[in-house]
Amino acid sequence: MKELYRDFQTIYGFDHRCPVCGRVKELISRAAICDDLAEDWRLSPELRRAFDYREGRSCRHCGATTRIMNFALTLLEVINLKFSSRYQFVGDVEWRSLTNLRLAEINNCGVLHNYLGNLPGLSYSEYDSTDPEISSEDLMSLSYVDNCFDVVLTSDVLEHVPDYRQALNEIYRVLKPDGFFIFTVPWISGRTTVVKAKINCQGMVELLSRASFHGDYNLQLADYLVFYEFGYDFVQDLQNIFEVEIYCHHGFGGLVSSVFTCRC
Ligand SMILES: [Zn+2]
Repeated sequence: MKELYRDFQTIYGFDHRCPVCGRVKELISRAAICDDLAEDWRLSPELRRAFDYREGRSCRHCGATTRIMNFALTLLEVINLKFSSRYQFVGDVEWRSLTNLRLAEINNCGVLHNYLGNLPGLSYSEYDSTDPEISSEDLMSLSYVDNCFDVVLTSDVLEHVPDYRQALNEIYRVLKPDGFFIFTVPWISGRTTVVKAKINCQGMVELLSRASFHGDYNLQLADYLVFYEFGYDFVQDLQNIFEVEIYCHHGFGGLVSSVFTCRC
């Protein structure tokens, strides 16, 4: 049986290059977590720093955050496994040549989208898209046929889905046997999952505690409303469906910058 946790540093060593653009790392830092969110989420100063590190520390050249850099390393490992390649940087991947790869990017994966857009077999969707060329997929009811993707990516999306278990089942359904679901969510491994909101029997959003939002707190955008604050029990839900590995840094920031790799 495989280990649940894999440490980025053990696998990749300390890399001085950004795994997205391949340039020598020059990192800029800013605070990413606002006071309202820190209070609603009951973040200790240490956890707040860890989430600031996750979202507010980024590559000066391409803008990839810590989380997206970790996402890139995990995606590269899956690409290299599937194509027996040895890519180290997302920017080096010959995306146009990967004609056999069917990949669903459900809401954009930050700066990774700039590269994934070159993939012939990309199915890209965006929440509430107004572009007729870009569909809007509902993760709880995907429009795709069964067993059609090699890889599905979501980037900090599941916490905004009213029923994440249904979304997991849908993602499993559209993946091929041996397909991968790679994703991030904000999670705190030392807590249990908190349901913040639900859809009631009238089909309306019902808040179960004060509303939390990601993105710009002042805008209080419906698509950034938090339905779940994920905790350790979330992993069991994943394991009920997939073979799971969690890529993480065991050092600073605990597990908050983890990337989940789920294999059918
Ligand atoms: Zn970069």
